[in-house]
Amino acid sequence: MKYQVDEKGYYGEFGGAWIPEMMFTNVDELKRRYLEIIESEAFKKEFDQLLKDYVGRPSPLYYASRLSEHYGSKIYLKREDLNHTGSHKLNNTIGQILLAQQLGKTRIIAETGAGQHGVATATVCALKGIKCIVYMGALDVSRQAPNVKKMKMLGAEVIPVHSGNKTLKDATNEAMRDWINNPEDTHYIIGSVVGPHPYPDMVARFQSVISAEMKKQLLEQTGSEFPTRILACVGGGSNAAGAFYHFLDDEQVELIGVEAAGKGVDTDETAATLTVGTPGVLHSSRTVLMQNEDGQITEPYSISAGLDYPGIGPLHAHLFKTGRAKFLAATDEEVLQAVLLLTQKEGIIPALESAHALAALDKIKMNPDDVNVINLSGSGNKDMETYLDYFGY
Ligand SMILES: *Cc1c(COP(=O)(O)O)cnc(C)c1O
Repeated sequence: MKYQVDEKGYYGEFGGAWIPEMMFTNVDELKRRYLEIIESEAFKKEFDQLLKDYVGRPSPLYYASRLSEHYGSKIYLKREDLNHTGSHKLNNTIGQILLAQQLGKTRIIAETGAGQHGVATATVCALKGIKCIVYMGALDVSRQAPNVKKMKMLGAEVIPVHSGNKTLKDATNEAMRDWINNPEDTHYIIGSVVGPHPYPDMVARFQSVISAEMKKQLLEQTGSEFPTRILACVGGGSNAAGAFYHFLDDEQVELIGVEAAGKGVDTDETAATLTVGTPGVLHSSRTVLMQNEDGQITEPYSISAGLDYPGIGPLHAHLFKTGRAKFLAATDEEVLQAVLLLTQKEGIIPALESAHALAALDKIKMNPDDVNVINLSGSGNKDMETYLDYFGY
């Protein structure tokens, strides 16, 4: 239980709910009711049913034999890329839309950077016939046109935000303002294990289906539910939180999170929060973030839009601080090589984000009998343009 959130919403010194007074009602309602709702039999039944019939779970645990041969150690891939919409993100948005319904909410808001969380939110709103508003920085709206069109086709309203840098942080501020103004009928769906308590815990619980399935599948395939190590990429940290969750107290299992080094952790173009960041408050949570000496957030950079975030969830800040998990960083260049390796060894084109976890295999020492599980968080379909440009096919 050492790594679970405490009653005040903290993981050690990280977390909490650093919210403006005016958001108290919204967050307090969630905090009071989320556990009772998501632990009820009726909720679990509908959540499990949708994960099975709509998302397509359980996702396979695949023994990658040619990749294993290449590295001289056993490598398994948890195939979140095979979920409906191509990543782990739907596990969370399904959970939150069901919670919103239980809370009697009739309107959903979300913020999105690259648009992937926006699409996952618009998807579940279509599924449930609930009104959906997605805030997105105006710069991101122009950079991510295909996802904007997808959200609109799914029936969502996309509102471009013109303040600040016109990116994710500005979209987040606008979503919070909306929520403050509409506390009665609106639920705010946050897309990772970030934000004020109870979001980090709630999202980790929804994503924990990943490690629950892994335990069963490992037992069937290897005779033990405990692997040697688990590797997952970390943006906000939700796929990693889900992959680690049921192993947190099994200290013999090594947990490795991989952040985006971008052009390198010693350059200004990076998103490796735990390497270059310092403690502070971001997105209403005390965590580690990238900031300058005046406490201004520094703009992160990564080739992968999903890891391009200046903070990290408070659970991971705690796992880092306590040493329970190790955190590495992979550069754009290393990641692209890892994409090609998996593609040509296994016939699986991974998302740029997920390939950060794959790239870390070159950075660790593995023994022949080790069981290494990579959480393959998403499919490379969305990144094909980048791949074709870079590799020149
Ligand atoms: C959004 C995304 C991520 C990063 O988010 P986390 O909350 O850190 O998991 C990673 N992989 C894929 C495929 C994504 O779409």
